[in-house]
Amino acid sequence: MVPHILLLGGTSEASALAKRLAARIADHAGLDVVLSLAGRTEHPAPQPVPVRVGGFGGAAGLADYLKAERIAAVVDATHPYAARMSFNAAQACAAAGVPLLALRRGPWMPVAGDRWREVADVPAAVAALGDAPRRVFLALGRNEVRAFEAAPQHAYLVRSVDPVLPPLAVPQAQYVLGRGPFGEADDRALLEAHRIDTIVAKNSGGAATYGKMAAARALGIEVLLIARPAIPAVPAVETPAEAEAWLLHQLGAHGAVSSTGDTGLSAERGA
Ligand code: NAP
Repeated sequence: MVPHILLLGGTSEASALAKRLAARIADHAGLDVVLSLAGRTEHPAPQPVPVRVGGFGGAAGLADYLKAERIAAVVDATHPYAARMSFNAAQACAAAGVPLLALRRGPWMPVAGDRWREVADVPAAVAALGDAPRRVFLALGRNEVRAFEAAPQHAYLVRSVDPVLPPLAVPQAQYVLGRGPFGEADDRALLEAHRIDTIVAKNSGGAATYGKMAAARALGIEVLLIARPAIPAVPAVETPAEAEAWLLHQLGAHGAVSSTGDTGLSAERGA
């Protein structure tokens, strides 16, 4: 029977892993892969493997799905801030007896010149902006930016994949639509054009959205970084290549794993 693999996606790493597995399938590897998306974006990017969209109905719903679809292994390649999905995956895979790997980017680390201030969550970021008016770039999801209506004294620039509708109920807000990756030069031009003095962002890790961090450093702009949420302690890797090796190992294709047998696994701890 062809092994069924479930990728929990919504990230560039999930798409990169899907591309690797699609190439194996095209090469007649006995694999069947489905990529799962939450359905947050209106026009998701095309994917190289079949896609299913929408929640499973909590951990119990996902456990039912794993059994019904006879899933042999799960890779949780959701965003580091998609903690609920990651906890559901850990619980469902344990209940259904299905091996689980997290494919998760490490956080960005500060370097000389960075002006970062970590805040616990989005409401803490709103409070940390203070009373004096600032010019703030919000690099957050469109559902998260609404919290900034509580601080209407600031001028906001919001970048999101889909439009923020209705617009924020604040006197000064501008919007730019975009889907990463975003380069440093473009982000620097954007920050300068809007005279931004503060960025609110997540510590997403990876290269695709690091441009604004490098640009902020070059321009001396303060970055309020939302702390990463706690995530379940499950075996984890940081690259699609390592996740592919783990999958092949799980499915018994030992010849495809590196000669040292190293699958790149580390025991990641919840933050
Ligand atoms: P979340 O809070 O952890 O998840 C909320 C619920 O959405 C989950 O309980 C699940 O519903 C559903 N869900 C989440 N990811 C799913 C997936 N890949 N496939 C099917 N259902 C999924 O997640 P979130 O932070 O809203 O993120 C949603 C999606 O956007 C994820 O795919 C994530 O990778 C992507 N994303 C998130 C961020 C971010 O900053 N949070 C950034 C970029 C991309 P049920 O309980 O009904 O199963």
